[in-house]
Amino acid sequence: LATLMAVAGLVVLGSACDSRPKPPTDRVGDLMSRMSLTDKIGQMTQAERAAVTPDDVREYRLGSVLSGGGSAPPDNSPAGWADLYDGYQRGALATPLKIPILYGIDAVHGDNNVYGSTIFPHNIGLGATRDPGLVQRIGTATAEEVTGAGPDWTFAPCLCVARDDRWGRTYESFGENPEIATEMTSVIDGLETGPARILATAKHYLGDGGTTGGDDQGDTQLTEADLRAIHLPPFKAAVDRGVGAVMISFSSWNGVKMHANKYLITDVLKGELGFTGFTVSDWAAIDQLDGRPGFTEDEVVTAVNAGLDMLMVPENWQTFLGYLRDAVETGRIPMSRIDDAVRRILTKKAELGLFEHPYADRDYAGTIGSAAHRALARQAVRESQVLLKNDNDVLPLAKTGGKIFVAGKNADDVGNQCGGWTLTWQGASGDTVPGTTILQGIRDVAGNGTTITYDRAGDGVDGTYRAAIAVVGETPYAEGEGDRPGGLALDVEDRQVLAKLKSAGIPVIVVVVSGRPLDIAGQVDGWAALVAAWLPGSEGGGVADVLFGDYAPTGRLPVTWPRSSDQQTINDGDGKTGLYAYGYGLSYAERPPDTAAPSRPGTPAASSRELHWMPATDAGGSGVDGYDVLRDGALVGTTTTSTYALGTLTPGGRYVYTIVARDKAGNRSAPSTPLVITVPIAGGCKARHGPCVAT
Ligand code: BGC
Repeated sequence: LATLMAVAGLVVLGSACDSRPKPPTDRVGDLMSRMSLTDKIGQMTQAERAAVTPDDVREYRLGSVLSGGGSAPPDNSPAGWADLYDGYQRGALATPLKIPILYGIDAVHGDNNVYGSTIFPHNIGLGATRDPGLVQRIGTATAEEVTGAGPDWTFAPCLCVARDDRWGRTYESFGENPEIATEMTSVIDGLETGPARILATAKHYLGDGGTTGGDDQGDTQLTEADLRAIHLPPFKAAVDRGVGAVMISFSSWNGVKMHANKYLITDVLKGELGFTGFTVSDWAAIDQLDGRPGFTEDEVVTAVNAGLDMLMVPENWQTFLGYLRDAVETGRIPMSRIDDAVRRILTKKAELGLFEHPYADRDYAGTIGSAAHRALARQAVRESQVLLKNDNDVLPLAKTGGKIFVAGKNADDVGNQCGGWTLTWQGASGDTVPGTTILQGIRDVAGNGTTITYDRAGDGVDGTYRAAIAVVGETPYAEGEGDRPGGLALDVEDRQVLAKLKSAGIPVIVVVVSGRPLDIAGQVDGWAALVAAWLPGSEGGGVADVLFGDYAPTGRLPVTWPRSSDQQTINDGDGKTGLYAYGYGLSYAERPPDTAAPSRPGTPAASSRELHWMPATDAGGSGVDGYDVLRDGALVGTTTTSTYALGTLTPGGRYVYTIVARDKAGNRSAPSTPLVITVPIAGGCKARHGPCVAT
């Protein structure tokens, strides 16, 4: 069901309608012919909630409002957000042309701005799952929660290919290899074509994860060939899926700020890749173009002429409007550039169905933090755990008998599990959001048979315990605040706890909650087991499921785990040997035997044109040679890549696809998890949100 809208995504988006829908192109053409310069430059302007009122939106004809980094209304409940959103929308609809606003938020791991929402693992954990179908379902769930709270646009997914773990945004990356981020663009289908549809943003274009030293907003020094090979593929995939917006990166490429790079924005993104959505600048990014504080008319001219369509000018939006108007009137920005930008923005608004359904859809409020979404998040947590070490099969832990000791600052802290971009920009430690801590998960999963004793500092541990679980790692941060040029050592508290547990002489199982690999090479020999939990979000029970064997680990490292930060930059295939290689991950002995067959491929995901999946590993077989594609159990095609063109499907049809891996000897894997595709009847849906019922 979660993917059912994917195949017909274009149909659905293109014809979201009331009883008499207007095709987006007709609507946009009609509006453009009636717009004044004031209307047009207003559309290109995005102001921050705290610096703009609904009356301003009306008076200045603004095209967009954002809540930066989670900037929440005083009533941070779903209802509070919906009221806030509707207030701005009423302002926009009181203008002569009644053009609705796009309200943008950073819903980067669930609808993380709203209290009570489901907080999914950050991208690095999703990369470890190698499961694009799961990630697509997370996109669908996120769109439902966002829709219930009002906003119609998220600044996600981040498609950065993080090449240096010292960078504070490493956890926003699906991994160090462009292939993972490319596959995980499936989230865009979930966000933009599910039952509740919001606009997605591929960010940050281009090369944000490749800066020297992992310096946030720094300089990516690469040849054009390397820039294209490493950083461009996920954006190409996002464009192919019809992503609505692309956010330009704060960073520079070989010394040139991306916001000034006409070649990469206009020629490559819009020209070569054929991007038809609109570009948006990053937070006050035009201020940085000349290296001096604030922005000038020259900087506005540079950015807009480079191909920026909407400008995120959080506070100084009135100054921006003045400069933009002047630049157009003096011919420094051609009217054709303005028209192109406005047409792109209006087209996305029309395709989203905003003109027919501009207001918050409170029917979706019930999905916010729902049991179904929390179950999906818990499954994502399970699949994201990477088992890196398991001496003498100490894991999984038996649920019966004896005592287990739990310690460490991240054992009982849901805020630390969630990391940055959770309610606030930087996130915070403590009881910030409703959810289940890892400790609570351990208590629930272990049941009554085992006694669980917890002490954060590890005091009281002794040889009478079967094992100790230390949950250590990082505390929340976001963006440059998380840069660690000096390295990624465990902090003093973690080292003290680990030393205490070790002195008890019992097996120590270490769970690292972090946004990236930490420097542990000096200590890992003393640990019986090691699990990378990444930033799992609100459903800590998924970590416990793995520790106690309710789920045998399947996660694989989305980044190389270096021996120390001195090895940075370290990436798949660069010849350096890390502590654990990219793609590494153990499981439990009782996993299904591979016999001679290759492992089953990852769950397929669907775009409007094709199926795609993560390749099977060939743990038991003689190497994957190709894939069989089965529809309703019958072979419909074979492929040597991990994609399959869908061809034309019949409207109203329901199809079940599975993928089977083959090796050269003809051995076949078990089929992948099935993907069900239901093709809606052409003619459009009755509403922007909700099941697509033919008009
Ligand atoms: C970040 C973006 C984010 C924006 C709005 C910026 O600082 O770089 O990723 O979308 O703020 O909150």
